[in-house]
Amino acid sequence: MSQQRGRRFASAPKRIVAVCDLDGTLIDSDSALVDAFVALGIDREEITFGHVLADECVRLGLSVGNYVAAYDTTQALPFAGVTELLASLDRWAVCSNKHPVSGGAELERLQWFPEVALFADAFRGPKQLTPLLEMLEITADQAIFLGDTAHDRQCAMEAGVRFVLAGWNPRAEAQPGDLVMSHPLELLELLGE
Ligand SMILES: [Mg+2]
Repeated sequence: MSQQRGRRFASAPKRIVAVCDLDGTLIDSDSALVDAFVALGIDREEITFGHVLADECVRLGLSVGNYVAAYDTTQALPFAGVTELLASLDRWAVCSNKHPVSGGAELERLQWFPEVALFADAFRGPKQLTPLLEMLEITADQAIFLGDTAHDRQCAMEAGVRFVLAGWNPRAEAQPGDLVMSHPLELLELLGE
């Protein structure tokens, strides 16, 4: 992930930068996430989404290392339209609670190169957008945060960033005030690309 690339755009016209959650937003990873827990003996009904992995492992009595080893980084595919969306964006970033080993391997496999990608190791608790905005050298009103869970909505609100719901994930639940996209390419209009 080249964080230096931000300098290239420092004097360019200000466009809206798409900061994206990874699991359930860009990639359809529910099955991969669940399968790893099930392989470690957890009941499917116990598993929820959007958490910090370390917290979820504590809750379920697992070690993070065992979970990361059980997670198949080749399994999850992009949602339809996401690859085309990312190819159309000048600037985009990832902010995810995912373990950096798993998330980094998936970005590499998909040959996706966000300007900045922050995973769980970048934060002490749940992910935050403010450090990422600083790395991108943009203000909160120059970004949107694209996500699929209430955790993502909260993360956006805390940083004063507009939240966009990845409505192409059938599990995503809209709340009043959400901007809901039904297809990834709808985002291009919003971003002025
Ligand atoms: Mg997610």
